[in-house]
Amino acid sequence: MYWSNYHSHCTYCDGRSSMEDFVRFAIAKGLKKYGFSSHAPLPFLTKWTMPEDDFEDYEKEFYRLKDKYKNEIELFIGLEVDYIQGCSDIKNEFFTNKKLDYSIGSIHYLDKISKHEYWSIDGDFETFEKGLNLLFGGDIQSAAERFFEITRNMIDKGDFDMVGHLDKITYHGLKIRNFDIESKWFYRLVTDVLELIKTKQMILEINTKSLNEHGITFPHQQFYPLINEMDIPIVVNSDCHYPTNVTAGFLPTFKALKNAGFKTMHQLFENEWQPVEFDEGGLRF
Ligand SMILES: [Zn+2]
Ligand SMILES: [Zn+2]
Repeated sequence: MYWSNYHSHCTYCDGRSSMEDFVRFAIAKGLKKYGFSSHAPLPFLTKWTMPEDDFEDYEKEFYRLKDKYKNEIELFIGLEVDYIQGCSDIKNEFFTNKKLDYSIGSIHYLDKISKHEYWSIDGDFETFEKGLNLLFGGDIQSAAERFFEITRNMIDKGDFDMVGHLDKITYHGLKIRNFDIESKWFYRLVTDVLELIKTKQMILEINTKSLNEHGITFPHQQFYPLINEMDIPIVVNSDCHYPTNVTAGFLPTFKALKNAGFKTMHQLFENEWQPVEFDEGGLRF
């Protein structure tokens, strides 16, 4: 049995340790496949994305480690690519001629809350509340509708392998009064986007980053049976920013997925994603 993780950050973006620290921890925690997915550069500077000029170093360090640890772990190079409607996506010039093993499409920013600032749904709660009030008059349903509309647009444009933290809007959204994620309208929004993922033959990540602290994965556990029924390929990722979190939340998540009826999850072999059987203790060889 072994683990894998394709969603991870290091000091090339907002991760808190070097690439090599993450590799060492990954080996120690029983991972056999590990992918780096730093936040890709945006057309403007942020504190959490990789500056464009650092990509060459990112690649160089990655290939050094890939070779150094080749007998212990299989390493992959990827990026987590933001879709910001009308501003930035994977079709940016930056991505032409970049050789990646895979890419994750994610949304952290919605619309603009001022001339120079986008609403971050993944920052602190104060910012979340501010944007929610400014853009949607505090109405979480309208915000969620907009979030999934943008998500669908990202998937429609395509050109990436995996959809990252599908319903991240729940991270702060669940702290807003009257937000009932079991409501029909929320199910409808998520079902619509799942149908599109299925049509586009993308992989859906089950993101465990907030499981230990908040008890939820992205997408939420309540959608596991539906995702299984729809036969959408999945991958479990921890979205770690600290080396100690390379497999955080994996045990209960693998168990919950098994209970929901899943038999396989996808794994990267050379250039191809293939289904691999798993059970509560990890992936089977
Ligand atoms: Zn993310
Ligand atoms: Zn991430």
